[in-house]
Amino acid sequence: RISVFLLPLYFSKSIIDKYLYSMRLSDETLVDIMARFRREMQNGLSRDFNPTATVKMLPTFVRSIPDGSEKGDFIALDLGGSYFRILRVKVSHEKKQTVQMETEIYDTPEDIMHGSGTRLFDHVAECLGDFMEKQQIKDKKLPVGFTFSFPCRQSKLDEGILITWTKRFKASGVEGADVVKLLNKAIKKRGDYDADIMAVVNDTVGTMMTCGFDDQRCEVGLIIGTGTNACYMEEMRHIDLVEGDEGRMCINTEWGAFGDDGSLEDIRTEFDREIDRGSLNPGKQLFEKMVSGLYMGELVRLILVKMAKEGLLFEGRITPELLTKGKFETKHVSAIEKSKEGLNKAKEILTRLGVEPSHEDCIAVHHVCTIVSFRSANLVASTLGAILNQLRDNKGVTRLRTTVGVDGSLYKMHPQYARRLQKTTRRLVPDSDVRFLLSESGSGKGAAMVTAVAYRLSAQHRL
Ligand code: BGC
Ligand code: MG
Repeated sequence: RISVFLLPLYFSKSIIDKYLYSMRLSDETLVDIMARFRREMQNGLSRDFNPTATVKMLPTFVRSIPDGSEKGDFIALDLGGSYFRILRVKVSHEKKQTVQMETEIYDTPEDIMHGSGTRLFDHVAECLGDFMEKQQIKDKKLPVGFTFSFPCRQSKLDEGILITWTKRFKASGVEGADVVKLLNKAIKKRGDYDADIMAVVNDTVGTMMTCGFDDQRCEVGLIIGTGTNACYMEEMRHIDLVEGDEGRMCINTEWGAFGDDGSLEDIRTEFDREIDRGSLNPGKQLFEKMVSGLYMGELVRLILVKMAKEGLLFEGRITPELLTKGKFETKHVSAIEKSKEGLNKAKEILTRLGVEPSHEDCIAVHHVCTIVSFRSANLVASTLGAILNQLRDNKGVTRLRTTVGVDGSLYKMHPQYARRLQKTTRRLVPDSDVRFLLSESGSGKGAAMVTAVAYRLSAQHRL
C-alpha cells in the first residue's frame, strides 16, 4: 500500500530530474569548473592576461585582517546589497576590544538606482546627513568607510573607480569615475556637514574583516545574496599589478563575471540565457546570474512557465501572474524548501499565482526549487574550492586549515543552502578543514576596521 501511495511522488520527481538534467551538475563537472576557475584566477593576477581577463582579481589595498588594536569612532556606508545601510561603529579598548554599533536602513528607490549618478550620490549624501543629525554628530568630522558592493579598480584604499554596475544598479555617469570623488562632491555641495572618506571596501572584504575580528584564521570573504562574489588573501608575489613581493593583499575576485567570455556555455541552460536577456546587463555577470538571489526566483518561474505550457504542471493552466516577471521571488524558493511547512508554503504561493495547484504540483515545484538552489550551492562550492586550493598551494601545506567569512541574504535565509555548500565544498576539497563563519553583523564592522587602520596610518603621516 505504501508503495502505491508513494508512486506518483517518485514519478513526478524523476520526470523533473530528466527535464532539468542539465541543471544537475555531477561532481566530475564541478571539479572541472573548479579547475577552470583556478585558471581564470591566474589570468586575472598576471600582468599579461589581466587586461583581457574576465575574472578581474582586483587588488584592494587591504593588507591584513584586524589585529585587535583598532579603535575609534567611525561611520560605515553600505551600498549595493539588499539594503542601503549607514552604521556608526565605536571600537574601544577597555581590557578587551569591544564594538558598539548603531544602524539605520534607508530606501533607494528604483528611479534613483537607474537615474543620474549625481542624483544617486546626492541621495547617499542626504541619507548620511540625516544619519549624522540623528546621531548628533553633524559638527564632527568622523572617518567614513564606504562599503560599495560593485567592481572597482583601486590604486589606493580611498579610491574606487567603478568598472561596471551590476545587480539592480544602472545610474548614468558613474562607470569609469571614482566613487569617493563623487560622494565628496555631493557632500561639499550640501555644505551642512563634513566627512572624511578613508576607504572604499567591497562587501566581500568587509565580511572577511568582520569575521576576521572574531577568528584570526579568516582569509576568505564570501557573499551569496543579491549578487555573489568572494575575496581572499593572496601573496603579494603573485599580484603582478601591485609593486612589491612581501606579505599579502586581499584580492576581490569579482567571480560574478566568470563565464562572460563564453567559458561556461556548456553548462548554461535556455533558462539562464533567458534570464540574461531580460537583465539590466546582458552578457555580463553570467556566473552570478546562475547563482545569486536576484535571479533565482525568476529562474524557477521560467522553468514553471515552460513546464506548464507543456502540460507538465497545473494541468496546463497559465495565468497572467505566472507570466509576470518577478512574481516568483527567491524568498519563495527559501520558503518552499523549508522542511516542515515547505509544501504548505508552495500551495500558498502557487495559489496566489492563480494556478490552482494540486498536491503533486506542489511536490513538483518543491523539486524544481531544490534543483535550482542546489545548482547554485554547487557552483559556489566549485569556485570557492579553487580559492581554497590556491590558498593551500600558497602556504605549501598538504592540508589547509582556514576560515571563510560568509554573508548574503540567500545564504542566510535559505534553509538548506549553507549545509549543501559546506558539504559540497568539503567533498571537492577533501584535504581541508574549512570553517564557515556567518558574519552576524554584515560588512559594516569590517569596513570600520579597514577605516580604523587607514585612519591610524594617515594620522602617522600627518605627524
Ligand atoms: C558585485 C560584487 C559584489 C557582489 C555581492 C556583485 O554583483 O560585482 O562587487 O561583491 O555582487 O554583493
Ligand atoms: Mg551586503
